Amino acid sequence: MTAAAAEPLALSTECELAKKPGYKDVHELCRQTADIPLPHGRGILLQARCRCGCHRSRGRSTD
Ligand SMILES: [Zn+2]
Ligand SMILES: [Zn+2]
Repeated sequence: MTAAAAEPLALSTECELAKKPGYKDVHELCRQTADIPLPHGRGILLQARCRCGCHRSRGRSTD
């Protein structure tokens, strides 16, 4: 068991960094909010959207 094939949470580089103390502002730099499919990938994602919790509150609710 050396390779972790499936990650429980796929975070962008920005949000991964933003988990560190003092870097929470980096969440705002994350633009990875949509899945990017490979052009000929037939369901294979080039880049999965960021699963960070900071994107979940984005929506209709104004706070
Ligand atoms: Zn985030
Ligand atoms: Zn993110």
